[in-house]
Amino acid sequence: MDRDLSGFLSPRSVAVVGASAAPHKIGGVLFSNVAAFPGPVYAVNPGYAEILGRPCVPTVDALPEPVSLAVIVVAPDDALRALDACGRRGIRNAVVITAGFKEAGGVGIERERELVRIASEHGMNVLGPNAFGLVSPRAGLNATFAPRGALPGKIAFISQSGALGSGVLHWAWERKLGFSAFISLGNKAVLSETDFFAGLARDPETAVIAAYLEGVEDGTEFLRVAGELTREKPVLVLKAGHTEAGARAASSHTGALAGSDRAYDAAFRRCGVIRVHTVEELFEEAVALAQQPLPRGRRLGIVSNAGGPAILAADAAADDGLEVPALSPTTVESLSKRFSSAASTANPVDILADATAGGFRDAVEWVLADPHVDMGLVLTAPHPVLTFAQLAESVAAAHRRHGKPVAVSFMAGDLGEVAEQTLNDAGIPAYFEPGRAVRALATLARYQEVRERGPHERRPLDVDRAGAQRVLSGGRSPLGVESLGLLAAYGVPIARGRLARSSAEAVSLAREIGGKVVLKVVAPEVVHKSDVGGVRIGVSQSKVRAAYRELAELLPDGPGDGAGVYVQELLPSGEEVIVGIVRDPTFGPLVMFGLGGVFVEVLEDVAFGLAPLASQEAEDLVRSIRGFPLLAGARGRPAVHLSGLVEAVERVSHLAADFPEIGELDVNPLLCYPDRVVAVDLRVTVL
Ligand code: ADP
Ligand code: MG
Repeated sequence: MDRDLSGFLSPRSVAVVGASAAPHKIGGVLFSNVAAFPGPVYAVNPGYAEILGRPCVPTVDALPEPVSLAVIVVAPDDALRALDACGRRGIRNAVVITAGFKEAGGVGIERERELVRIASEHGMNVLGPNAFGLVSPRAGLNATFAPRGALPGKIAFISQSGALGSGVLHWAWERKLGFSAFISLGNKAVLSETDFFAGLARDPETAVIAAYLEGVEDGTEFLRVAGELTREKPVLVLKAGHTEAGARAASSHTGALAGSDRAYDAAFRRCGVIRVHTVEELFEEAVALAQQPLPRGRRLGIVSNAGGPAILAADAAADDGLEVPALSPTTVESLSKRFSSAASTANPVDILADATAGGFRDAVEWVLADPHVDMGLVLTAPHPVLTFAQLAESVAAAHRRHGKPVAVSFMAGDLGEVAEQTLNDAGIPAYFEPGRAVRALATLARYQEVRERGPHERRPLDVDRAGAQRVLSGGRSPLGVESLGLLAAYGVPIARGRLARSSAEAVSLAREIGGKVVLKVVAPEVVHKSDVGGVRIGVSQSKVRAAYRELAELLPDGPGDGAGVYVQELLPSGEEVIVGIVRDPTFGPLVMFGLGGVFVEVLEDVAFGLAPLASQEAEDLVRSIRGFPLLAGARGRPAVHLSGLVEAVERVSHLAADFPEIGELDVNPLLCYPDRVVAVDLRVTVL
């Protein structure tokens, strides 16, 4: 639902329920902040007739008007009564600062349910409870107990943590970093991050959305709203819970590796949200996005007077996927004419320690003008001949002329302070650490790609849905290699084979397949067949009967429905990969891809995507693992059939999306060859 949040961003009038004249009480601090609001403000408290020159009424009912926004700071049970009174008074927006709800457990959970009921009965937008409040600098409203509120700016900050929000307000004030809105979500009983994403998408004062989130309420809605939003405005999310272990009792590799953080990564990638990992990154990148134009590509031109920082920057560029391309001959020529032969005219351009502001002016101008360069980075270390004020002027002028994004790292401490105002006015972000400047520029490039890319189109696949359904409807779980037909129904190539329930059947199956074969024990209890000696590879025809008998010993209840010995064609050795499915409570079906064997077990070199995947997404997923070069033909190995592999991953992802009853699934291994891929083992948990 798209809610009208103007009551929070641009209220006409505000009431504080629980306002106090006592400066040390929460209600006193909060009211003194709200009292500075330029429009009508009312205090609600039976103890006073006015507070800080603002009228005070005894109850919500006595308010002279249904204010646009009520801020509630009374004790929890009173807060519920006040909210109900607000609803009856026709007030549509409220912030409940009061704690003692869901976060407190016990009776708090009941209270929160009641709050949700009241809000929906009156059709109210409620922020909180247990929220630190909100600041709308454009409206002159500080409805928090932070003393100074926030300066106006273009970044909207949404925080799921009140404490972090409060810290950020202080920190941002010190740095003169402004906000279009500051919102502490609290318990998200009614309004969640998604509601604010939708509201801020339409807000002309917000250029960038930065959020600190611990979780997402409704995954599907988040993907929809954020997916639309990121095409208009960049969204940066600092998501906590990175180290959360995949603590589920898992019967598959995919399940064990899938902790919900992987799902967040996959979801953010799908909807174009850019994930960051520290508070500083969140705002450094938000500032760059708010102030700088977007680059046309990933090519970075670096100008410096110092070798060390330039090397750091070039390393960071490689890590962040930026190119540091060769400059065009004209640029190189101009540079070599202007600077001594000791200078480096290749990118990174090093105009040496004694470079003057004038030298920088020319070098930056030429590098930014170069058609091979999409964005620029200016690095310096202090030198007696360099005046930072002039340097900043020249960088700003070149930036204006070429309209390409620029960042600077003047590693100069207070010497560089004289440049600050000029850089700020020009919207050029400045960093101490060269790598941070590079990261900010890389984020601009990433966001440009999000906008350009738009949503991936998923193609319809020719699949035998009914056939897959038949395999899953057998009433058994888990399913094993005997159920490879499930994959075949979705067009994933499988090794030939069938389940035998007697030695005679095994012998005749082996004869049908021909040559040497593979025998595998099949029983619901046996999770990893090799671990119990349940896989025989390369069994010749004459040995099939004996091998069958040995493997049948491993069947606890003898052969039967879903138990026996699987006879399979013997395949040559190939690259083994794993393709899996797991279900995330927030975002639904995920598909996993990784290299098999020790790569998945020890190195956890796997990648997750939200199912179903578009072909391009499946390819991106396959290419994203560290071990991809092994598949692409590193070290003299033959390259595997990439399009076949990508298609198999795509098809498994469709299976995941089409059948919610698949809880977990591992195709392990899918054998990959230069000309094809073939699945030889399967494990499925049917819900
Ligand atoms: P499990 O994973 O239960 O131990 P698999 O069926 O995956 O059993 O077999 C174990 C290993 O045996 C595979 O990883 C693969 O290396 C090899 N293997 C399995 N089936 C075949 C086959 N048909 N041809 C060649 N090698 C196979
Ligand atoms: Mg296996």
